[in-house]
Amino acid sequence: MVDSILGKLRGHVGEAKGRAETDKREREEAERKVNSVILTKREVQGEWDAARTLYTTLGATGPKSMREITANDLAQFRHNMEIARSNFTGDGITARQVIDLASSKPLPGAGSDTDIDRARKQINMAIPVSAVNNEVRFITNAGPDSDVNRHHVLVRFNAFSAAVNKLMSAKSKDNKTPKQTANWLRKQKLAFDCDCGRHRFFFRYISTIGNFNAGRDELGFPKIRNPNLKGVACKHVLRVMSEIDTSTTVLNFLTKHMEKVHASADNRARHNMRQAEADKAAEKQAARKRTIKTSEQRAKERARVQERNALNAASKKVKRVKVKPVGTRKIEAALKSGKLAESDLEVLRRFGFTDKQIADKLGV
Ligand SMILES: [Zn+2]
Repeated sequence: MVDSILGKLRGHVGEAKGRAETDKREREEAERKVNSVILTKREVQGEWDAARTLYTTLGATGPKSMREITANDLAQFRHNMEIARSNFTGDGITARQVIDLASSKPLPGAGSDTDIDRARKQINMAIPVSAVNNEVRFITNAGPDSDVNRHHVLVRFNAFSAAVNKLMSAKSKDNKTPKQTANWLRKQKLAFDCDCGRHRFFFRYISTIGNFNAGRDELGFPKIRNPNLKGVACKHVLRVMSEIDTSTTVLNFLTKHMEKVHASADNRARHNMRQAEADKAAEKQAARKRTIKTSEQRAKERARVQERNALNAASKKVKRVKVKPVGTRKIEAALKSGKLAESDLEVLRRFGFTDKQIADKLGV
């Protein structure tokens, strides 16, 4: 038997929670250290001890170069926060917004590729494996340079309560409504968390200040990794967002979860994907063409389709000009020039000659 490309589902929640615990403990230890290098919230707000020496990559030149942070930098950091925050509106972010922002305002990676490029090339599956009320856990494969073989992405659907309320007004035997509600829910705002280092060190701060963080809050400014606060999500989250936005696997999973909520007495439910079902979905995903489409790409595609349809419709309207056979045309010309009389033609036709035979006979 082939090993599951997704790994065992049993114990996935424990594994995800364990990684989150480790992350939290390491972060707390880092801040408690005597010579902690974390730039805290209050320091960014201006409570800056000038005797403290911290470094930033902001405006530093040369590869991997750093320079000392000055009080002026703090104003720049606050400004960068405002700029980043202006990209987000209110509580949460939609799956499509995450994809669009990752494409329009990317954080440059080590090379020329961005997180969305890497998501397209390296992350070929993201499966929703378990749901408890508003929280859904996804498992994705890890990239080629990873030290783990899979990642956990937690997604919190902010509109879950609203979805539940929609279902409450539907009859209990109404099968259509859970699916419609699931389809609505996946287009609404959400929050996310990933257990990878990219999310931890580059993006968690952004999701915290943007109000779309589903994990531990990060208040330490990413002065080294991402001082300009560019980008929005790691490749694992981007693959998950693409699945939420468009895949039937996610729609079916959310529909089943919604059916359980619909049938429950207290609007609470949990839903787990079975191992065999998850493996099948993962294999299907791994075998397909990997795309993640931005809104702009979708609009362009729609325009192309519309243009093609319009052209097809127009070409159908053009009436086909029927070309008459050569013999008939020759006869018509002979009639016009007087070489052939109408009455003779009538006689010949009455004898059953075809136009071709008549033309050949007449030598016209
Ligand atoms: Zn990640």
